[in-house]
Amino acid sequence: MEIVLLGSSGSIGLQTLDVVRKHKMSIAAIAARSDVKALALQAREFKPRCVCVFDEKYYGDLKIRLADTGVKLLVGMAGLCEVAAMECSTVLNAVVGMSGLEPTLAALEAGNRVALANKETIVAGGELVMQLAKVGEIIPVDSEHSAIFQCIRGNNKEDVAKIILTASGGAFYGYNSEQLKSVTREQALCNPNWSMGAKVTVDSATLMNKGLEFIEAMWLFGVSPSQIEVVIHRQSILHSAVEFADGAVIAQLGIPDMRVPIQYALTYPERLDCGHDVKRLSLADVGSLTFARPDEETFACLSAAKKAANKGNNACAILNAANEAAVGAFLQGEIEFCRIAELVVGACEAVKAAESVSLATIYGDSESAKEFVRLKI
Ligand code: MG
Repeated sequence: MEIVLLGSSGSIGLQTLDVVRKHKMSIAAIAARSDVKALALQAREFKPRCVCVFDEKYYGDLKIRLADTGVKLLVGMAGLCEVAAMECSTVLNAVVGMSGLEPTLAALEAGNRVALANKETIVAGGELVMQLAKVGEIIPVDSEHSAIFQCIRGNNKEDVAKIILTASGGAFYGYNSEQLKSVTREQALCNPNWSMGAKVTVDSATLMNKGLEFIEAMWLFGVSPSQIEVVIHRQSILHSAVEFADGAVIAQLGIPDMRVPIQYALTYPERLDCGHDVKRLSLADVGSLTFARPDEETFACLSAAKKAANKGNNACAILNAANEAAVGAFLQGEIEFCRIAELVVGACEAVKAAESVSLATIYGDSESAKEFVRLKI
């Protein structure tokens, strides 16, 4: 098994390398946005054929760090797409944000299987991606979608009545709009259950993460927005569930640990022993599981995402780009937490989506959404 890993220095990337190390899989290529120090160390440990840095500024530094190795170096979006199309068994795409879209398309065009951790790929480019993807070519890495994928396996897809998408509720579960006004960056960056990167942790606190996952589920499993129900489940033990035509509900459970869905995406359809470092679930120890409806009035990002999902076309790309810009500004300390939702909702109302969906209109509409946010900051 030879893996191309995009986003190797981020949270999912590092956990993927843990899985690779444990099962002695091999790495065909690694890519990261800018962390050349991590790339150089990983290149020496995993001996890939190619190493790619996305941000051209860091290419010179990478070249010096790997001068004695003879490994092929690539740069920029062209480099990302080239490694995504390399001959391999799976491309694991853990790039953050919309820059993951083109490499996903390149991988699918080359006939590669994609283990997808970059949800923005599907949110912004769902239509393009699903047109290219053959059945079984995209294996979700997101814990909820991995759960849904596992629940559907062995059943007829036509018998799916409803998808039950669970959400931890994030750092500010139970807060009202007034309380959200005074939360800090440090509080937003703290998720009770999952260890994740900064962008997705903030998205989790605004419930936008669930909004993006709602759209992701719609595309990946071919269901309509009305067939997806978001349920708050604070313990993150039940990773999602599927209700079938006969009313039977099948769920997938486990202690939250991203290495489990990562490993499954790499070894599917096989399951390998994950060893002792992944905790086993004891339902008796957990005691009780709780479920509740989300507060979509206070957490307006979730309702904005549902609206975009219903609108179709590039509405989801606009939502996603506005959110990327707003979360970026929040992480830079430029805006308060509660303005993220305000800016996203504003952009979704103000920016008009192009009539047709193509890579060019996705980029164009995304740029307009980002511009809208920048002007309001
Ligand atoms: Mg998730």
